[in-house]
Formats: sequence, structure tokens, C-alpha cells
Amino acid sequence: MKYLQGLNEAQYQAVTMIEGPLMVLAGAGSGKTRVLTMRIAHLITNGVSPFHILALTFTNKAAREMKERIGKVVGESDAKSIWMGTFHSVFARILRSEAHLLGFPSNFTIYDTQDSLNVLKKVIKELNIDADLYKPKKVMSRISAYKNNLITVRAYLNNPELMEADERANMKYLGQIYGKYVESCFRNGAMDFDDLLLRTNELLTRFPEVLAKYQDRFRYILVDEYQDTNHSQYLIVKALASKFENICVVGDDAQSIYSFRGANIYNILNFKKDYPDAVTVSLEQNYRSTQNIVDAANAVISKNVQQFKKNVFSENETGEKIKVYRALSDADEAGFVAANIWELHNSQQRKFSDFAILYRTNSQTRAFEDSLRKKNIPYRVYGGLSFYQRKEVKDLLAYLRLLVNENDNEALSRVINYPARGIGETSQNKLIVFADSQNISVSKVLDNLGFYSPQLGLNNGILTKLADFWAMIKAFEVMLKTEDAYTVAMEVAKRSGLIKFLKDDQTPEGISRVENVQELLNSMRGFIDEQQQVEDGDPGLSNFLGSIALSTDQDNTKDDDRDKVSLMTIHLSKGLEFPVVHLVGLEENLFPSFMSSSTREELEEERRLFYVALTRAEKQAFFTYAISRFQWGKITDAEPSRFLSEVNSEFLEFINPAMESRFVNHSGLKSNIFDEMPADARSFKKLDPKKKIERNEETPKTMSRNLKPVATARIINPSGQSSQDIEVGD
Ligand code: ATP
Ligand code: MG
Repeated sequence: MKYLQGLNEAQYQAVTMIEGPLMVLAGAGSGKTRVLTMRIAHLITNGVSPFHILALTFTNKAAREMKERIGKVVGESDAKSIWMGTFHSVFARILRSEAHLLGFPSNFTIYDTQDSLNVLKKVIKELNIDADLYKPKKVMSRISAYKNNLITVRAYLNNPELMEADERANMKYLGQIYGKYVESCFRNGAMDFDDLLLRTNELLTRFPEVLAKYQDRFRYILVDEYQDTNHSQYLIVKALASKFENICVVGDDAQSIYSFRGANIYNILNFKKDYPDAVTVSLEQNYRSTQNIVDAANAVISKNVQQFKKNVFSENETGEKIKVYRALSDADEAGFVAANIWELHNSQQRKFSDFAILYRTNSQTRAFEDSLRKKNIPYRVYGGLSFYQRKEVKDLLAYLRLLVNENDNEALSRVINYPARGIGETSQNKLIVFADSQNISVSKVLDNLGFYSPQLGLNNGILTKLADFWAMIKAFEVMLKTEDAYTVAMEVAKRSGLIKFLKDDQTPEGISRVENVQELLNSMRGFIDEQQQVEDGDPGLSNFLGSIALSTDQDNTKDDDRDKVSLMTIHLSKGLEFPVVHLVGLEENLFPSFMSSSTREELEEERRLFYVALTRAEKQAFFTYAISRFQWGKITDAEPSRFLSEVNSEFLEFINPAMESRFVNHSGLKSNIFDEMPADARSFKKLDPKKKIERNEETPKTMSRNLKPVATARIINPSGQSSQDIEVGD
């Protein structure tokens, strides 16, 4: 078989061992995703129906790319019929067919983060709780953590320990908010992202016949990036796989970077427990990067205590050293990166798409955008506002959401007076308060406006406007019964007055808003065509809306996006590869982030992030840091990241020549970087006073006082056991 050629022995084993549980645990760039892809091709080649395969990936984009590759081996039509996508998109699809069992309409709305936050804000207000103490984002992340650990409202209220913990965190009303929030979503016929997993678990637990149906269907299950699955996802996979146990998971514990979102590294450990017969394959050869890059990445990750030891090597060329640029400011850093890209583009004929700029936080983007623009270098920022999050797009989508789910109050309140039709906020509030008092949805009130009007306290003018609005929505709904989604959406855009309203604004921004609405309609056309080509496709409006709610801006790549420099956070870069990577902002408090460097666990996760970033590079990597940075409205001084000093100097080359002889890292080179900083920049990290610190003998004794931020010390646990090496101040 041609597709099997070119696999190494371990990869071959993982691809061809079709039956039984299998875990591939291996370092970056060793071909895990390739193995998963070829394994699916192999299954189909060996007679397994695509119908019986379920493949779970970390992004929808990854799923699309895998399908393309599989298509080349087994043919496009088979590849297209595999159920492959993110946990969220696959299980949203299953929930659509089964939602009625859980009391949800099959056309349930998927709330994006902003919708969820809006609902939470309303709930907090309704409960008369101090909104300053209960910041919606904070509340949401707690609720999300509960959901991902399958702690429902009832489970929460039966767990005094959890409630006490929240009380200690000044969140004693969390249970109440959680309850109201869930109620509100239910009433609106909506699920948030976490619900898609939680409700799937509920479905599979409460309805054994449904579980049996999907167990029977998904006889072969494959999961990529397994190290970043959360508990809820783990349970779904476990339940589905428990009949046939043909489950293959691939992952790398050293790349687990989503613990803040509940990812649970123990899922990897549990695999052997859940499937005692599981075969574990490890892949050691990295095919992506030069030896220098692989060795440098290994050196850093080896500092983590919590990890499975792996031997990752590369037989590619040794490659160039990693170049380190010390910038005077964030603007200087960005200027260097743009100039460097320009230079390599010209001298090495590199395409712009060969380059990535990776950073720790989104706020770093702007400086790079400025510098790239100055040089006319095309670029694309990933992870910003997704196309579908733009206001004009969301407005049209809200109309469409309302058509498929009249109970979707978030959508209703978005469009009831947009474009303005004289139904002001006071009138809207009266409507909502009345609906709540009767325990019915706003749509029910609108359905029976004549009957309820005496109790609403609204004047005749407003009542007429409401009736007109609702009649228009009803007319769209009728149309949806006979026309396709695209035709209806077109009609909505016109008749609601949305297009006219946008067209009245002839500024460039206004024009681009009209274009965006057009683009949304185009993407709908594309979606319908695509769905009509696959056997069990669903070109319906609610399927389209569901797919949009789960899409990210990576899913919206246009052709003219092809030859551009990619800018993204490290988190987003997982699984990707680029010939040239610039890893920027390598400064203490930025990377590692000041939010995540107080405990060993947090620091180790930051180090894993560093590992992920560096291992995206194929041929060349550049590190940059600035000694001063404009942050939070003022210029602050910065120290080089400890991670820089964890890369052995043999892999590094300093671009600012004056720096080379003066930089210190663990190899003991001398540096006076810190001498050049103002005194207050030398205030070192505060240490946990409970931890005793002992000088590590390996630390060069000759280091000057100013080097202490990067000195190595050994932390001794209170129990006396030594734990890991971390970098500390005095
Ligand atoms: P990550 O941990 O970053 O997700 P991965 O383990 O999934 O990486 P892949 O992305 O599958 O690794 O592979 C990395 C690169 O190496 C890809 O370009 C892939 O095509 C290539 N590759 C993998 N295996 C081989 C092989 N046997 N021969 C040649 N190239 C290979
Ligand atoms: Mg991969």
C-alpha cells in the first residue's frame, strides 16, 4: 500500500494494529496526527465503513485537513462521510437528533461566549447581586469548570464542600446564579459550549438505548491531542468505546496546555487503567524540525518534573542556531521581526506563509501588525474576532436564530428593535417582565398579543409595532418551510431593513459591513452545497447556525489569505508547523505570564507552552525579548524570560553582537544585561516564604548579584523531599 510507505516502524504498528485499544504517546512533530490520519485511511481500505468511524480533533480546521489527506487515499466521498470534527461539533450534531429526550427542541440554539455572558449578566441583575463582586467572566469560568466535571446544579447544591469553597472565595451566591443560568438557557432552548458535552453525557447515561445506538455506530474511535481532553470529554469517549474498545488516542503530555480550561492530563494515565490490554506505542523521531530545534526544546521541557520521560530526536539537518534578539522596546522588537521576515523573504525566497509570529497573549499583536503594515508585509491575525462575531453578521444571524427557535430570547432582544422600529427599551422590559411573571416565553406573549395586551401596559402605537414585527418573523418562518435557508436569509436581510440600514452608511466601514453580510450569505450558499454532496448531510438552517456557533476564525480562510504571515497565540498554534517561527515577548511576567508563575504546576504549564511554541518551527526559530515594554498604559522594564536561560547556549546565537559575551545562562556565561536596567527593574520575584531554598551546587558561584533572577535553586518541600529545579531570586 502506497500510503503505508514512508512510515517508520512504530508508526506502521500504530497505523495497522486495527483492533483493540491503542495509545500513542509521543513528542512533538513525531507524526501522531499523521498516524491518526493514515490509520483512518487504513481502516477504510480494509473494509471498515466510514459510517463506523468517529474521529475527534482539536480544531475543525484540523479535521478538514485530515479529511483531505484521507480523501487522497480512499476517495473523496468516503472521506467526507466520516464523522470527524471537534468534540463540540460532533456532539452538537448528535444532540440535534436526540435533544427532545432531554426536553430541548432539536433546533436548540448554541450560545457563544457572548450570549452566555449576557444571560449571566441578566441573572446577576435579577438576583440583585453585586455585579462588581460577581464579574460575569469569573462566574462563567467557575460554572464552566463545574459543568466540565459533570457537577450539575443539583450535584453542586448537594456538595457542602464546594459551596463552602465558593463562600470562602466570596462567591456564596454562585449556586443560585448557576441554577438560574441553567434554567434560563433551558427556557430559551439554548445550550452553551459546555452543555454540549454535559448534555451528551446526560444523554448517554440516562438513555441506555441511545448509548447502545452510538456504540454500535462508532465502532472505531480516534482522538487527537488527547492530553487536552477534559473530564467531560473523557467520559463521553469512554462510554462510546466501551463496547468494541477499538479506541486509539494520540497525545503528548508535554503539550498539555489547556488545564485552565479543565484539560486533565490524568486522562492519559487512566487509559491503561481503563483498558488494561491497551498497547502503547511511542514515537521518538521528530520529522518536523532541525536537530538544533528539537534538542533545544528537549532541554527546556526536561526541567519539568511532571512528565513521562521521552527520547525525541531528529535526523533532519543540524540546522542553524536559534537567533536571539534583545530589543530596547516592544516597538523595536516588532520592527526587528518585520525586518527579519522581509530579509528572509528576499534572501531565501521564503513565502510569507512560511512565517509565524507566536506570542503568549493577544495584547502583543498590535505592535507586530503596525510593523508588518509599515513594510507592506501581508499578515493574518488568528484568534481575534471571528468573522461570525462581527456585529452586522451577528445581527442577521440573530434573525435567523429566532426563526428556528422562537424561545431564543438573546436573539429576540438583539433584533426586536434593530434596525430601529420604535420598540424602545422600556417597552421591551415591560414585555420581558410580564412574560417572566406568567412564566411563559416572550414569544408566547407575542403570539397572543391581542389576549395579553390589556395587561402589558403598552400603548396602541407600540402594540401595532410589535404585531408588525412578529408578523414579519412569522412570515419568514412560513417561508422557511418551502424555501432553502439561503433564500430565506436573503429575504430576511432585505425585508427586516438590515441591508438598507447598512447601505445608508457610505463610509468605508459601512461598505465593508454590507460586504460582510454578503459574505455571510455566500458562506451559507457554500454550506448548503457542501451538505447536499454528502450522504447524510443536513442543509437546514439550524445545522448551519450550529456550525457557525462552533466555528473559529481559522475556519474562515479565503483564498487571498494564503500567502500571509500568521500571527497567533501559542495556544492556537498547537498541532501546526511553520518553516520559520518567531517566538516573541520572552520576558518574565509576560512569558511565563505573571498570572501563572506562582506555583510549580502553573510554571510547568508555561514551560509546556514554551515547548509547544518552539516545536512548531521546522527550519529556523527566532527568540525575541524587550527590555522595556508599553503595558497597562505605561512603560515598564522587563527581564528576559527564565525560559531563555533554560535553553543551552550551544543552541543559541545572539544577534545583538554586544550581548553575546555578556549573556548568562546555565552554561555559566557571563552577563550584565541587568546592569543596564534601572535599579527598580531588578526587584526580583517574591518567594513563597514557606518554602526553604537551598543553593544548587551546579549554579555558577561566580555569578554577579544581578543575575539572580535566572539562578537555579532547589526548592525543598516542607516534607523534606526535594522537588524540582526552578528559577528564583534570592
Ligand atoms: P504535534 O505534537 O505538534 O501535534 P505530531 O506528532 O502530530 O506533532 P505530525 O504533525 O503528524 O506530528 O508530523 C510532523 C511532521 O512530520 C509533518 O510534516 C509530517 O508530515 C511529518 N512526518 C511524520 N512522519 C513522517 C515520516 N515517517 N516520514 C516523513 N515525514 C513524516
Ligand atoms: Mg499533531
